[in-house]
This record gives sequence, C-alpha cells and structure tokens, in this order.
Amino acid sequence: MLLEIQQVSKQYKKDSWALQDINLQLKPGIVGLLGPNGAGKSTLMRILATISQPSNGTVSWNGEDIRKKPDELRRTLGYLPQDFGVYPHLNPVEFLEYVAALKGLDRSKIRPRILEILELLNLHDTLKRPIGSFSGGMRQRIGIAQALLNDPRLLIFDEPTVGLDPEERVRFRSLLTDLSGERVIILSTHIVSDIEATADQVAILSKGQLLTKSNPSQLLHNV
Ligand code: ADP
Ligand code: ADP
Repeated sequence: MLLEIQQVSKQYKKDSWALQDINLQLKPGIVGLLGPNGAGKSTLMRILATISQPSNGTVSWNGEDIRKKPDELRRTLGYLPQDFGVYPHLNPVEFLEYVAALKGLDRSKIRPRILEILELLNLHDTLKRPIGSFSGGMRQRIGIAQALLNDPRLLIFDEPTVGLDPEERVRFRSLLTDLSGERVIILSTHIVSDIEATADQVAILSKGQLLTKSNPSQLLHNV
C-alpha cells in the first residue's frame, strides 16, 4: 500500500495558493499533519479523499492515479471531514446504515459490521438514541465510526480529536495505533501530543508548503 502525492498544488483564487508543490510518499503507518489554521491541511485531505481536485499534480494510490478510478478508491477509503455533520433525528444504527448505503456496502454484512464498530467505539449503549442528543465527544465518535465502516486501507482524519474529552482522546489514540499496521492513516491535529503519541511521521504545513517531514521525536527535540 502506497499513497504518493506528487507536486500537488491547489489554487482557489488567482494569485493565492492553498497548496504549493506538495510531495509526500506514505506507506502503512500514521502520518500526523501539523500546521496553523489556513495552512492547507483540510485542502490536502479533501484532495486525498477525492472530494476536491488539485489544480496541478497527481495523487496515486498503489500506483494508480486516484482521478482515474475514484469509485474504487472510495471503497477503500475512510474520511472524517472537519465539518462532519450528522442527521440529528437518526440513531447511530440508522445513520450508519445510511452511510453504508451511500458507500455501496454489501447489505447482508452491514448490520453486524455496524454493531461491531459501535462496540469498538464504545457506543453500543446508545443504539436507540437520536444522535442529536449526543455529547460532542459521542458525535465525534460517530464520525470516526462512519470512517471505519468499510474497513478502509486509507484513513483520512481531519481534526479527529476535536470535541473528545481527555479519556476519549486517549482511547482514540490507542484505537489509531491498533489500526495502523496495515493501513495508511493521515491525521491532522492542533494537538502536538496526539501526534507524539501515535504518529510514525510528522509533516508540517505552513502557508500551503510542506516544511518538514520527520519522525515525531526528532521534531519534538528540535522545537
Ligand atoms: P487548514 O485546514 O490548514 O486550516 P485550509 O485547507 O482549510 O487550511 O485552507 C487553506 C487556504 O485555502 C486558506 O487560505 C483558506 O482560506 C483557503 N480555502 C480553503 N477552502 C477554500 C474554498 N473552498 N474556497 C476558497 N478558499 C479556500
Ligand atoms: P475499556 O475502558 O475497558 O478499555 P471501553 O468499553 O471503555 O473499554 O472501550 C472499549 C474500546 O472502545 C476501547 O478499547 C477503545 O478501543 C474503544 N473506544 C472507546 N471510546 C473510544 C473513543 N472515544 N475513541 C476511540 N475508541 C474508543
């Protein structure tokens, strides 16, 4: 499994680049994307998730340009957007059934998988409650759950720990580490300790440019 980002740039407006010439090669493991607001983290993640197109450059997954077969990539992709929204009147099972239908997952396998994921995220006591009544951390866990539904090989988490309380954050970190062996996982966060606890590699974005790629301990020794 290999995700290759080659010379990717994104321009939303004339004379203003949200991303400039990004090059990254990602093997299974966790890469943490750090950077201030406006650095381009969400833009890069949307491109990787095929929600947005780069202005220049290519992204390939296992050697194949993701623009050629986006549907194939989407089947093996899990994405938690930053502005993840739920349908407040649905309960977790109904919501995840809806997401599963959108992802074209095998109907006969959906129900057990949904229950498994809800259990994994410690949401199994809430199956009949509308998501609208959930705390911020529980909603965020629903967001994590929908990203994991299709057992993806490529996981893109945009600010996944926002809204989690300290205990949930620790659990999320251990879940990430459990998932990382056979998956390429990209997470953006403002919280350096999320990265320190989980990431094999850190990429720092600033003003649309990639400043460094290193391992977290190197990074933390240098700041
Ligand atoms: P981050 O996720 O690091 O906060 P973003 O990727 O959201 O950064 O934003 C990078 C830059 O691109 C910012 O200057 C932002 O204002 C701009 N931008 C992001 N999305 C859009 C959009 N849909 N249209 C126009 N400009 C955008
Ligand atoms: P315990 O505290 O005994 O480990 P829990 O029932 O509280 O068990 O949680 C079971 C599993 O659910 C944990 O091992 C963890 O992987 C997962 N989990 C719970 N909460 C979260 C969370 N917020 N984010 C990610 N995973 C979680």
